[in-house]
Amino acid sequence: MEELRRIAMASYQASSSRLRNLGHDFFASMDHDGNGKIDQREFLEFMKEAGHVKMSNMFFFNQLDLNEDGHLDFDEVMMVYYIIQSGRPFCDRCNRFVTSTYLTCVTCLEDPTACPYYLCLDCYAHARLDHLHDNSSQFVDNYSLLEYLTKSKLCELRSRPNAPLAIQGSPNSGYNQPHPVQTRPWKTALDLLNIGVYAGFMSTTFCTIL
Ligand SMILES: [Zn+2]
Ligand SMILES: [Zn+2]
Repeated sequence: MEELRRIAMASYQASSSRLRNLGHDFFASMDHDGNGKIDQREFLEFMKEAGHVKMSNMFFFNQLDLNEDGHLDFDEVMMVYYIIQSGRPFCDRCNRFVTSTYLTCVTCLEDPTACPYYLCLDCYAHARLDHLHDNSSQFVDNYSLLEYLTKSKLCELRSRPNAPLAIQGSPNSGYNQPHPVQTRPWKTALDLLNIGVYAGFMSTTFCTIL
């Protein structure tokens, strides 16, 4: 959670004055008595009224209360603000906020009518068979998914007619092409495919550039 606090505050510092003001408004709307800190009652009431049901519990409050002084200060509330804005998930099995790697159900992800289904590592390790589609399940971790989506977007841009040279790779982009385009950007994805991390997901959405 300390890493999350640092990310949240770095995002706050780097954002426009308008967004920073929204952050202060967010804090003020939670701070009913205006004493500059958020107690448990204020936090739980706000989360419930705002419809953030999974956040309205003491376990999450205590996760946020990094210095364990019994209330939330501005930095700690900015973590909540960041979590809401960035869509960081809660585990759909244990309902706890996921502080590190998480897994997403591939079948639910591909179904536009379904909500994403997330598991924390503990739940994935012990209970992934609880969530089944046709007696099976397939999950992808957030790092692999991000890598896949990044490459998909790059692939889409490259396949456009008259794509500018810049998106075909720059010297420091990590997608530079000393080899033909067919063999470079998808190597990682193919490696993942080979170890079966998300074979089904990949096979249905392969880019024609391959
Ligand atoms: Zn869990
Ligand atoms: Zn699912």
